[in-house]
Order: sequence, then C-alpha cells, then structure tokens
Amino acid sequence: MANTRQSDEKLTALEVACDTEVSGCVFRMRTEVDDRERLLEITCDHVSEQHGKEFSLEEIDDRHVTEVEV
Ligand SMILES: [Zn+2]
Repeated sequence: MANTRQSDEKLTALEVACDTEVSGCVFRMRTEVDDRERLLEITCDHVSEQHGKEFSLEEIDDRHVTEVEV
C-alpha cells in the first residue's frame, strides 16, 4: 500500500510560456505536473491557431516547459 502523495513536500508545477517570434503574445499557463500532456496539447493548439506553426509535443516540452515551485 504505497502512498505516493506526500503533502509535506514542496509542490512542483509546470509552466509554459509562448515564446515565438511574434511579439506581444502573452500566452502563459501553469498546471500540475500530472497534467503535462494536457498542457502540451493546449500549447500545441495555441501555437497552431495563433501563430500558424506546427510544433511537436516534444519540441514544446523541450523548449517551453519549465518546472516551478508553487
Ligand atoms: Zn503565442
């Protein structure tokens, strides 16, 4: 019966910020680590719809996602 939830530990969140060459875009989103996939998909949609660019989820993960303490 392993309990993986440790409420005493610092929580980590994922933050993504749009960083295309299009200036003025302030897309920024923060989510729980568990939601990584959804975060990547939403960002992928944003970049595609707002900037007409196609990035793979891996590229977004590599370049734009940072882990932050909350
Ligand atoms: Zn953007």
